[in-house]
Amino acid sequence: MKFHFPKSPKPEHIAASDWNNWTWQLRHSLKTLGDFEKHFELSADERAAFTEGKELFNIRTTPYYASLSGGPGESIRQILMPQRFEIEEGSQQMLDPLGERKNNPAPRVIHRYSDRVLFLITDICSVYCRFCTRKHFTGQEQAFIRNEEYEQALAYIKAHTGIREVILSGGDPLTVGDAQLDRVLSDLRKIDHIEIIRIGSRMPVVCPMRITEDLVKILKKHKPVFLMSHFNHPNELTEEAAAALELLVDNGVPVMNQMVLLNGINNHAALVQALNRRLLYLRVKPYYMFQCDPSIGTDHLRTSVEDSLEIQKELWGHLSGLAMPNLSLDIPNGGGKAYLVPNFQTAHEGQTRHFTGWDGVDAQYVSPSADKIKKPLLGSYMEEWSHLKCGKSQND
Ligand SMILES: *Cc1c(COP(=O)(O)O)cnc(C)c1O
Ligand code: SF4
Repeated sequence: MKFHFPKSPKPEHIAASDWNNWTWQLRHSLKTLGDFEKHFELSADERAAFTEGKELFNIRTTPYYASLSGGPGESIRQILMPQRFEIEEGSQQMLDPLGERKNNPAPRVIHRYSDRVLFLITDICSVYCRFCTRKHFTGQEQAFIRNEEYEQALAYIKAHTGIREVILSGGDPLTVGDAQLDRVLSDLRKIDHIEIIRIGSRMPVVCPMRITEDLVKILKKHKPVFLMSHFNHPNELTEEAAAALELLVDNGVPVMNQMVLLNGINNHAALVQALNRRLLYLRVKPYYMFQCDPSIGTDHLRTSVEDSLEIQKELWGHLSGLAMPNLSLDIPNGGGKAYLVPNFQTAHEGQTRHFTGWDGVDAQYVSPSADKIKKPLLGSYMEEWSHLKCGKSQND
């Protein structure tokens, strides 16, 4: 191995067969102040968050993920540990920053782009990340969607033939058991117009023992299924996490990683490159690097757009394009994603554009004149394109 992925520091009194069992990890997750006090030396601010802030957003971690964290200020600790800052005023605080509640045409379905929907099959996670963008839904412990609502959600997806892709999300869809997951995937595969299924999960990070041979068999059976992981820091890449990722990829499940830039946790080019090079080595494609959404109680975890752009610009030219994530921001109120790209163009007149490259090369690119630009032959692809473009409105 080119990189070293250390084994998680399992406490000695816990049997390896328990530690490596995902249901054991969920059953023994730390939830209360008392649970946390047994594992951590809490600061006064952290303790205050438990007593004053619990209403705001549920608290939970797996013993595995807790074992990876260190003292106050350490990155993983800041992801799982509530802090007093959560209950303080911030510069922007929204309960539903993505405007999801207005794009919610059926129970647990969020339909904002014409060709793809989110399907929130559970609101439970094994770790409640303090930066979560979906605090209006996540962690209320309503669990797996009720049967009647499940049927309504499926009926919506069936009736809207413009939907090509279903993104299972939550909560964390991999907190759901194999049989139930198999049922959801089978039901979706029965719908003719569904091409791609994605599963967005933090389980490979916070409970990698969830990725079992049995689970992977199910995902393979319903291919193409993509897994969207959510690693934020290279210290999350343990031997167990690496094994989980390799098991997925070896069995034909492509894995893409979506990270979020977090203030004082991973907002430095050195950490971003370390994480993404290791992920790429494990055949995981770094996909998005998100600006943190202004979700309520996250002001202290957000970076500035300037800070994020600076990181992206530093990476340019030094990191393989394969390892490069797309820096993106979700426009509040359901405006959709907006890519944030460092600007290399310095001037533009007529057909000529002036650029300065990542290492300072100045040059011009001159386009052919507009009257020379013609369209290619389209054949039946035009029909497919028109259908895709109006997939949502056509069926509404
Ligand atoms: C982010 C998001 C998607 C997926 O977007 P991609 O750019 O395809 O990854 C789909 N629906 C909603 C509501 C989203 O927020
Ligand atoms: S795993 Fe995702 S949905 Fe769950 S708390 Fe973390 S960010 Fe929110």
